[in-house]
Amino acid sequence: MTTLAPVLSAHWDAPRSWTLATYEEHGGYRGLRRALAMEPADVVTTVKDSGLRGRGGAGFPTGMKWGFLPAPDGGPRYLVVNADESEPGTCKDIPLMMASPQALIEGVAITSYAIGCHHAFIYVRGEVLHVYRRLLRAVEEAYAAGYLGTDVLGSGFDLEVTVHAGAGAYICGEETALLDSLEGRRGQPRLKPPFPAVAGLYARPTVVNNVESVASVPGILVGGSDWFRQMGTERSTGHGLFSLSGHVQRPGQYEAPLGITLRELLEMAGGVREGHELKFWTPGGSSTPIFTAEHLDVPLDYESVGAAGSMLGTRALQIFDETTSVVRAVTRWIAFYKHESCGKCTPCREGTYWLLQVLERLEAGRGTPQDVDLLLDLCDNILGRAFCALGDGATSPVTSAVKYFREEFEAGTHTPADVLFPPERTALF
Ligand code: NAD
Repeated sequence: MTTLAPVLSAHWDAPRSWTLATYEEHGGYRGLRRALAMEPADVVTTVKDSGLRGRGGAGFPTGMKWGFLPAPDGGPRYLVVNADESEPGTCKDIPLMMASPQALIEGVAITSYAIGCHHAFIYVRGEVLHVYRRLLRAVEEAYAAGYLGTDVLGSGFDLEVTVHAGAGAYICGEETALLDSLEGRRGQPRLKPPFPAVAGLYARPTVVNNVESVASVPGILVGGSDWFRQMGTERSTGHGLFSLSGHVQRPGQYEAPLGITLRELLEMAGGVREGHELKFWTPGGSSTPIFTAEHLDVPLDYESVGAAGSMLGTRALQIFDETTSVVRAVTRWIAFYKHESCGKCTPCREGTYWLLQVLERLEAGRGTPQDVDLLLDLCDNILGRAFCALGDGATSPVTSAVKYFREEFEAGTHTPADVLFPPERTALF
């Protein structure tokens, strides 16, 4: 089995792990001290060399994203941390911010120094009031200790950090909708390009990074890029939080190198609940195509999961045993996407509405014989035609579930096709 001494979650069980005192006791802020002694460009190079890829789902190389910022022109540039974790099954950033908020704040300070940002924002979902409060307190502690504010640790570098609570909308996790929301507008995605790196918050160059990505940066500064690269695979380096939920003995966060398999993770988590067997699972939240028991040994890295027909996404492994109706699970996910569609583009707004109509009648056993193909046709009209990733993501559970469990969907049609259209009758047409 692939093993790893936990990095991000190493001190989550320590008493009052969320306080600055506990974080410092366990070596916190060494990464920031090291970064401040380096040239900002060298910090960017270190992160680039580590191979760290965005932990929010897309896996875009973090250092490369920082490198996309145009040359300084004297105006402001921003770091915005995307803490709007909302993907069904995804539950890693919230525990991270609750257990170790200082790791995020240290990452914010290092990233800001590296990219020349003097005002960073942490955009957290409005519903998670306890996280918002914890972050406010942690930022306050970091200011008082000189890790934030004017002249950080006597380096001459100034940094303000604002924690902002959104109003609770899935779409605000899409980076450009998040920026609109932060600017005080209704959160809806913007056309890309321009990417935020060129024109982001207040139309200024902006880096938008996920919580776990930013919190991984201090470790890279302390351990070095080679240390980080030793973990994971050649192109999917480092460690990550894998969130196991559903029909599993010990659900929770499991930190492991990328490339670990579900079989190995299940061994750590005590297996599927007793007396039951794995039926299907999501490798990276509900917007990634589902996997089945056939995929237990697929290495959970970007390349291998992609080659097996899905996406690593947010590493939210939702486990379902044989008692679960796949039609019911998919209907529930689509109800979420339909509710959360921002309405800006027609394929997503109308498509998720119609997907739900068809799924609900299949689930109730009132589908028509054409409904399974209709589902696929609807997905075909959303995929690649929606304004942002939300529409595409909504099609993944549908198409993959039909691929592996078509007969369960067909069982929801009220009249089997061979009864309604027996060969002897269709031959007359
Ligand atoms: P994306 O691939 O379009 O972009 C990824 C990042 O790279 C963005 O920050 C983007 O600005 C940057 N980027 C890409 N090309 C660039 C270029 N040429 N120049 C400059 N920057 C560039 O993906 P996305 O739409 O941001 O995210 C989709 C992913 O989000 C999905 O794969 C899904 O797994 C994930 N997701 C996560 C959650 C969650 O709760 N964490 C929720 C929904 C979706």
